[in-house]
Amino acid sequence: AAAPILLEARGVQKHYGKFVALGGVDLQVRANTVHSVIGPNGAGKTTLFHMLTGNKTVSGGKIVFDGHDVTHEPDHRRVRRGMARSFQVTSLFPTLTVRENLRLAAQGVAPAGAHDPWHPPFGRRARAEVVHGVLKRLGLERLSDTPSSNLSHGQQRRLEVGMALAARPKAIFLDEPTSGMGIDDLDEMKDLIQGLKEEHTVVLIEHNMNIVMNISDTITVMQQGRVIAEGKPDEIRSNALVRAAYLGNM
Ligand code: ATP
Repeated sequence: AAAPILLEARGVQKHYGKFVALGGVDLQVRANTVHSVIGPNGAGKTTLFHMLTGNKTVSGGKIVFDGHDVTHEPDHRRVRRGMARSFQVTSLFPTLTVRENLRLAAQGVAPAGAHDPWHPPFGRRARAEVVHGVLKRLGLERLSDTPSSNLSHGQQRRLEVGMALAARPKAIFLDEPTSGMGIDDLDEMKDLIQGLKEEHTVVLIEHNMNIVMNISDTITVMQQGRVIAEGKPDEIRSNALVRAAYLGNM
């Protein structure tokens, strides 16, 4: 049986003046899957993320997460419900160690499973456990006392993912986590993302087609603010509309 739907967007629109960045996007993300959003530059992928995670307001439509209508909830409230977005390297505190960064990210998060928005922050012990778990997941235990600025580019990108994981999210939103990476780093990021779906649901924007085709359960293809195709990697690879959108570069 298919996993339940954790996140749903219905007819989500975003207008900037007369410009239609999103023209009514429908999306259904199933729990414990990797769901990728792809499309040419300017297709509206990042805008869609802003809508889903509450970084910007919608112009129309509805967003339901974990059974709750979150359309008009601010981003911090959605974090409490179990949505976490990974931001760029710039969100790391360069002089703090890997562990200290994660400890900050883990602050004030609810215990696993308890995503009641009004749940009080949990204790020091529980936070340390979360941080330990994330360090292990990232494969950065050995570097836990190293300032984050001393990490390689690939390690820093993994730590960004860890900052989101430290919030114990049900769904994690990754916007181009592999940008600017060399081959070895790519492989490690790929393994990390793949491992996440045991415990989390992953929504991924990714330009590297090799990675997308390898790790996605479902792929949504956008073009000019609309969904033009959705399906499993094999279905997307052979879709004529998608091939046309990419001018054969797949
Ligand atoms: P990329 O892969 O290049 O990041 P994307 O698919 O993420 O592209 P978006 O960043 O979502 O695309 O942008 C979608 C469209 O919305 C673009 O044409 C962009 O210029 C436009 N846009 C985004 N933000 C604004 C804004 N604040 N005002 C006006 N137009 C905007």
